[in-house]
Amino acid sequence: MNKPLTELRDAILAAVESVADPVTGQGLVTAGRITGLIVTPEGGVRCVLEATPADVERYRSTRDAAEAAVSAVPGVARVTIVLTAHATKGLGPTVRVQKGADPAPQAAQTAPRKAEGLPGIAAILAVSSAKGGVGKSTIAVNLACAFAQLGLRTGLLDIDVFGPSVPTLLGLAASKPEIGPDKKLIPLEAHGLRSMSIGYLVNIDAPMIWRGAMVTSAIRQMFDDVAWAPLDILVLDMPPGTGDAQLTIAQRAPLDGTVIVSTPQELALADVRRGIAMFEKTHVPIVGIIENMAWLEQANGEKLYIFGQGGARETAQSSGVSFLGEVPIDLALRQSADAVHPLVAQNPDHPISQRLIAMAKEALATLATGAKPPPTIRFT
Ligand code: ADP
Repeated sequence: MNKPLTELRDAILAAVESVADPVTGQGLVTAGRITGLIVTPEGGVRCVLEATPADVERYRSTRDAAEAAVSAVPGVARVTIVLTAHATKGLGPTVRVQKGADPAPQAAQTAPRKAEGLPGIAAILAVSSAKGGVGKSTIAVNLACAFAQLGLRTGLLDIDVFGPSVPTLLGLAASKPEIGPDKKLIPLEAHGLRSMSIGYLVNIDAPMIWRGAMVTSAIRQMFDDVAWAPLDILVLDMPPGTGDAQLTIAQRAPLDGTVIVSTPQELALADVRRGIAMFEKTHVPIVGIIENMAWLEQANGEKLYIFGQGGARETAQSSGVSFLGEVPIDLALRQSADAVHPLVAQNPDHPISQRLIAMAKEALATLATGAKPPPTIRFT
């Protein structure tokens, strides 16, 4: 765990605790009012203040006081505390999710939610791609390792029911998850990540036909029947494309955002635009686009733009979404996948790891401040 970030988180929790809960008189943390705390290394802070539906008006000044207290903590740059009377996601052992809170009527809710929250998971970030083979799983695994490097309790859910590759990428292809006392599957731990994949449960080499209800039920189980909590962030390795499986996930899981991975050529980018439209329709904020296989650096240092230059950056600009950066074609990245050690975990100082860690930081900053929905004006 990254020490300064842990210390900053503790200082933030102490600041929130110094503000009294208007109903019980206890500190807000002790009273179980605070959930979903996200802290970025740049000092972005977001959390949820859960009020009981009847008292939500009284909590507005409490929220303001908590924001002021957190703003005063050295190292905090921006604070957003979302007031809600709806039971949402929790943070884990340091902050209790309030037990037995009244289920809030829809009208009392002050922060709209897309789907039912998952207890104990502060944020869910999907990694998607409109096409297969663009390096989505490679990026998802390494981004997850980057979050772990940044000190976040990180989970990785391989929800690519058609071609799960996380077991191979993490070196866990021969492992099977156990079932805990609460009958939930216990995620496998490796490289600082808790992970779950359909590939742990079925033979990935056997042909699989996942259709209709089977896909839906497999997806539901991966969220509901796995002992994920407590997590600061859950990264989803999504199935490629924009079909039924992707829609089911976007509707079932309360996604806080998605990054879209693409290669630079026009054929891939046309699909990216379709992907952006799908996420807009399902109200999933697009955190940004990552261009993978952007170039190949030759022995003389020159960059060879095998798939064309800058296509994903231009698509991001013309679609009004952020561009998170490029990842070049790199032998170490490919070899680390085959050697079952994600590059970011194995060698965080490698230039490609540094790129991915920078992208993870930017994604966190966007998640922490609430990802903006893409603007509606477009240039096509
Ligand atoms: P997807 O999940 O989109 O199907 P994968 O992550 O499985 O794609 O990647 C496909 C192949 O490309 C893998 O062999 C992977 O190691 C390789 N790969 C992905 N990105 C890079 C890169 N930037 N440089 C070199 N090889 C890469």
